[in-house]
Amino acid sequence: MRCEVCGVGERQEKAIRYCLAVGEQFVVVENVPAFVCDRCGETTLQPDVVERLQNTVWSSNRPVRLLETRVYDFV
Ligand SMILES: [Zn+2]
Repeated sequence: MRCEVCGVGERQEKAIRYCLAVGEQFVVVENVPAFVCDRCGETTLQPDVVERLQNTVWSSNRPVRLLETRVYDFV
């Protein structure tokens, strides 16, 4: 599938790591199916995947693992 953003690259289906800020926390969802351009990196998710992601992020299900995250102040 040709990328409509750069018009040059091809979109490949890949399993990506999706990160989202929820309040003071970052939530990471691994192995999310997405279409990623091999040229510009533009990433697109199918609507049903977005819906499942939202359900996952807002669920109170126990995560598969916890990460410790470093926070820096750029100023
Ligand atoms: Zn592209």
